[in-house]
Amino acid sequence: MNPLLELDHVSYAYHTRSGETFALTDISFQVQRGEFIAVVGPSGCGKSTLLSLISGLLLPENGSILLEGRKETSFREKIGYMLQKDHLFEWRTIYGNVVLGLEIQHKLNDESRALVDKMLMDYGLYRFRGARPGELSGGMRQRAALIRTLALSPELLLLDEPFTALDFQTRLTVCDDVAAILRREKKTALLVTHDLSEAVSMADRVVVLTKRPAHVRRIVEMKFAEPDLTPFARRSAPEFQGYFNLLWKEMNEDE
Ligand code: ADP
Ligand code: MG
Repeated sequence: MNPLLELDHVSYAYHTRSGETFALTDISFQVQRGEFIAVVGPSGCGKSTLLSLISGLLLPENGSILLEGRKETSFREKIGYMLQKDHLFEWRTIYGNVVLGLEIQHKLNDESRALVDKMLMDYGLYRFRGARPGELSGGMRQRAALIRTLALSPELLLLDEPFTALDFQTRLTVCDDVAAILRREKKTALLVTHDLSEAVSMADRVVVLTKRPAHVRRIVEMKFAEPDLTPFARRSAPEFQGYFNLLWKEMNEDE
């Protein structure tokens, strides 16, 4: 079977009045269905650019990006994007926020409403569906943002440092929540982060990028003897430190 996502020698440069910024050179990797991939790399190396290319917001200058073996950018519909800021609207209730994407895409119907209600119930937000975002904790807001993304039933989720705005304690809980939700919904996800411990605790494989212009330095599989550990439990598993050190070394080697 085809990989869900396939990047083949992708390069991209920003062209501005002050010149060219080469963001990515010759990026190739594949993502299988159901996989959780983390992409790590130093700040400013081109991680967000990579997600913009995958989502079709930007077009590669060289190389190709295939989703389910197809190149056309109409696949944007199949991609859910979650950002560092939750972008919930204060003038809408939690319910109003969660169904916003469905409204915009004219997909709000009995079936999608039922899906949203189920997720709100499963993930502890049903009681708060009439509340405003400002009444919720950071972790709850991030869960609401995730439900809004999942409501559109995307094939692939792109997560751009979605936890960095949270305090450390909350971040650990939300990582567990998000991992559990994605596993349960059988989603494929690509998480961009500069936090190596987040990558080790959540991913099946970690793609290490070099500094700008980014290319793939190494892809490391996270193998834990005990299967199905939560991200939090992985942090105290015996393999954790070794993977952390390995990624650290890879990321700092081109200094
Ligand atoms: P990261 O997400 O890894 O921090 P980005 O992908 O946001 O990095 O940016 C990669 C590089 O491209 C940075 O040097 C940044 O300054 C530059 N860049 C990002 N967006 C633009 C843009 N719209 N125009 C020009 N340069 C940009
Ligand atoms: Mg970024």
